[in-house]
Amino acid sequence: MNILVINCGSSSLKYQLINSESEEVLAKGLCERIGIDGQLTYQPENGKKETSDIAMPTHTEAINAVIRALTNEATGVIKSLSEVGAVGHRVVHGGEKFTSSCLINEASIKAIEECNDLAPLHNPANLIGIRACEELMPGVPMVAVFDTAFHQTMPEVAYIYGLPYEYYEKYKVRRYGFHGTSHSYVSKRVAEITGKPYDQMKIVVCHLGNGASISAVNCGKSVDTSMGLTPLEGLVMGTRSGDIDPAIMEYIAKKENKNIEEMTAVLNKKSGMLGISGVSSDGRDLEAAAASGNKRAELALDAFNYRVIKYIGAYAAVMNGVDAIAFTAGIGENNKAMRQAVCDSLSYLGVKLDPEKNDVRGEERIISADDSKAQVLLVPTNEELAIARETLALVK
Ligand code: AMP
Repeated sequence: MNILVINCGSSSLKYQLINSESEEVLAKGLCERIGIDGQLTYQPENGKKETSDIAMPTHTEAINAVIRALTNEATGVIKSLSEVGAVGHRVVHGGEKFTSSCLINEASIKAIEECNDLAPLHNPANLIGIRACEELMPGVPMVAVFDTAFHQTMPEVAYIYGLPYEYYEKYKVRRYGFHGTSHSYVSKRVAEITGKPYDQMKIVVCHLGNGASISAVNCGKSVDTSMGLTPLEGLVMGTRSGDIDPAIMEYIAKKENKNIEEMTAVLNKKSGMLGISGVSSDGRDLEAAAASGNKRAELALDAFNYRVIKYIGAYAAVMNGVDAIAFTAGIGENNKAMRQAVCDSLSYLGVKLDPEKNDVRGEERIISADDSKAQVLLVPTNEELAIARETLALVK
C-alpha cells in the first residue's frame, strides 16, 4: 500500500509518498508560501528535484498540486489517486485525549479541535490539511499521529508542574512533551541495533535539531521529557530559550515595555543560540563563527552542550541508570564535536565515545567504545516512516 504522509504547517506542507511494503520513499517534497503565492518542490525517487510556482491560495490547492505532481504522466510515481491507500497526518498536540495514533473521523477531528488551545499555531494548520485531504480524497482512510502521544506514559510526578493544582484541573496545564514520533522511533531502533529487549532498556534519546528535546525511555515507555506544555521548555534551542527563571518574563517586560505576547515571542524566536550569539540559530553558522574566533558563538554552542549534559544526567537519575544514549536530528546527527563534548562529561556513567566511530554524519551506528558501560548511538530519525507505519497499522 502507498501511504501519503502529510505534515501541515500554517503556510507550508511537507509530504512523502511511502510504499508500506518496501518502506521506500516514492516521492517527497514541500509546498511553501501557501496563502501568499505558492511554490511546490517535488522530488521523485531516483529523479530530479523540481521547483515550480503554483498558485496556492489555500491548503486545498497545495494538496491538489501534490496530487497532480504524484500522478504526472512524465515525472509522477503513481498513475492515479486510487494508488494512495491511506494518508497519515502529523498532528502536533493531542493533549490528554490521545495516547496513541487514531483513525480520522468526525469524532476524532472534534477531539483534535478541542486541543487547539494547547497548540494554537500548529493544530489548526494540521486540521486544515486534514479537511483539505478529505475534500480531495474522499473515502481514503486517514490517520492522525500525534507529537505528544508517546509521552502520555509519563507518570504524574513527571508531568505535574509546581503550580496551583486547579490550573491542571481547569486548563490541563501540565508537561506533554513533543517530538514523540522521533523519540519512539529512535528508542526502538536503539533496542534493535543493540540487540537488547526494548522493554528492559533504559534509554536517553537526544533529539537535537533546531527544536530540541531529550527524553527518558524506561522499559519502552517515555517517563520524562524536556519539552513541556509547549515546545518552549527544556534545552537551549536554535531560537527558543528553553528553561529560564519564569520571573524573567516580568522583569524584562517592564524594562523593555513589552506585553506578555511580545515576551513569549522573544523567548520563542529571538532567544536560544541565536539570542546568545547574535550570529545565527543555525548550528553550522555557529560552528563557522566560533572557529573564526567569535566568542559569543562559542558560548552559544557551549551553553547548548551544557544543557544537554544536565538533562542526560537528570534522566539517568530518574531511571536510576542508563543503558544507551542516542543522538538524532540535524545537530545530533551531524555535529561530532557536540557529541564528543557531551560524552566527555558522562564518564561518571561509564560512557566512553570512540572518536573514530564518532567521525560520521547521519549514519546509523554505535559510536561508543566496545568497553563503554552505556552504549552511545547515532540514529538518524525518520518521522515520516514512523507515521507511515502507524498509519498502516491502523488502516490494515
Ligand atoms: P533539524 O531541525 O533537525 O532540521 O536540524 C537543524 C539543525 O541541524 C541546524 O542547527 C543545522 O545547523 C544543523 N545541521 C543540519 N545539517 C548539518 C550539517 N551537515 N552539519 C552541521 N549541522 C547541521
